[in-house]
Amino acid sequence: MVNIKRFKQTFDHVNEYGKTDKGMTRLAYSEEEKGVTDYFISCCREADLSVTFDAAGNVIARRPGLDPELSAVGLGSHLDTVIEGGKYDGVTGTLAALEIIRDLNDKHIQTRHPIVIFAFACEESARFGFSQIGSKIFAGLIGKKELARLTDKEGKDIRSILNERGLDFDRIEEARCPAPKLSAFLELHIEQGPMLESYNKDVGVVTGIAAPTRFSICVKGHAAHSGSTPMNQRQDALIGAAEIALELEKAARREMEHGTVATVGDIEIEPGAMNVIPGETQLKVDIRSISRSSKDRVVRTLYDTVDRLYQTRHLKIETTMLSDETPVRMNPKVIDSFENICEKQGINYLTMPSGAGHDTMNMAALCPAGMIFVPSVGGISHHPDEHTAIPQIEKGINVLEQAVLHWAEPVDIPVPREQIIR
Ligand SMILES: [Zn+2]
Repeated sequence: MVNIKRFKQTFDHVNEYGKTDKGMTRLAYSEEEKGVTDYFISCCREADLSVTFDAAGNVIARRPGLDPELSAVGLGSHLDTVIEGGKYDGVTGTLAALEIIRDLNDKHIQTRHPIVIFAFACEESARFGFSQIGSKIFAGLIGKKELARLTDKEGKDIRSILNERGLDFDRIEEARCPAPKLSAFLELHIEQGPMLESYNKDVGVVTGIAAPTRFSICVKGHAAHSGSTPMNQRQDALIGAAEIALELEKAARREMEHGTVATVGDIEIEPGAMNVIPGETQLKVDIRSISRSSKDRVVRTLYDTVDRLYQTRHLKIETTMLSDETPVRMNPKVIDSFENICEKQGINYLTMPSGAGHDTMNMAALCPAGMIFVPSVGGISHHPDEHTAIPQIEKGINVLEQAVLHWAEPVDIPVPREQIIR
C-alpha cells in the first residue's frame, strides 16, 4: 500500500505552481510549468532516480533494474494544464508514478527491469492547438517539420517559446526514444467523464483511446424574407444543418456499444437576423470512437445525409475533412494485468473506452501500453471544479503499483540498496 498522505502533500505542493483565482494555469513551456517541472525533478532526485530533461522538455527519471539487459517499464503522465483548469488532470498520474517509486524504495523492493517515470511536455492543446507534443516526439510520431509551423495564441512561434524555456528547437528530434524500447507503458489518469461515478466503480480499465474525425461543413441555401417566403419555397440552410445534427445523433446512438459519439459543437448562421431565412450555415462536427469501422459507419451517414439534403431541400453542401485519426487499442495483456489486479484487490472496476486523447496512445506505438482511470466527480474536467476523492486515487495508485511490479518483475529477496547495480 502506498503512502497516500505523502502523495497528497506533494500533490498540494505541485498545485501551488500556476494557481490563480480561477483555477490552475500551467501552460506548456511557461514559467509556471518550469517551476513545477523543476520541483518534480528535485523530487525524483530525492527518490534516487537519475533524471533526464530531454530536448522536447520531457522529464524522464530512471530507477535501475537488477538485469541491465532488460528494457524498462514506463509509467507517468503530464504536468501542464489548460487555461483555468483543475488540479487533477495529468498531475494525478505523474505523482502516482513518483509515489510508487518512493514506496518501492521504502520497502527495498528491487525489480529485474528498470522503471522509468515520464512527465511528458505539452500534453494539452491549450497552448498551440496541438496536443501531446512530448510523447509524440518521444514515440517518433512527429518531427521538426510538423512542429515548425506552430504558434501560440499570442502569435509567438514554437522556436522562440522553446528557446525561452532553455530548449533548442533544432535539436527537438533528439528526444526520440532510444533503443531498446520499453517493455510496457502504464498511465493512471482521471476519467474526465461521468461513467465511473454513474456505475459506482472505483477504477476504469481502458480498452482503447478514441480518435476524432472532424469536419467543417458549409450548408448553402437561399436567404430570403421570413415573412413573404412560403414554407414550401424555402432553401433554409439552418434546417439542413439541423437535419445533419439529428442524423449524426441517431447514427452515433446506434453505435453506442463501441463508445462512438458525434457532436456538432459549433455553428454559425448567415446572415443571422431574426427576419431572414438563413442562407448559409457553417458547422463543425467531431466524431469519435475506439472502433474504426463504427466511426466509418457514422461518417457514411453524414455523407448520405448530405446527398439526401441536396435532393430534398436543394441545399448545396461542402464537406471538408479537417482530421481523421485512427483509434488506438490498448494492449490486451496490459488490460488483463489491470483486470486481474482489480479482481485480486476486490476493486470495483469497469472496462471502458477513453473518449479523450492521452500520451498513452502515442506510447502504444512503442510498446504494450495501457491506462487506468479514477473517477471524476460529476464528470467535470478542464475546469477549476475538477475533483477526485483521495481514497479513490489511493485505490488507483495501488492497482498501478501492482501492475508495475507485474511488468517489472520484483526479485524475491529484498536487496540492500548499496548492492544495487547502477
Ligand atoms: Zn491529461
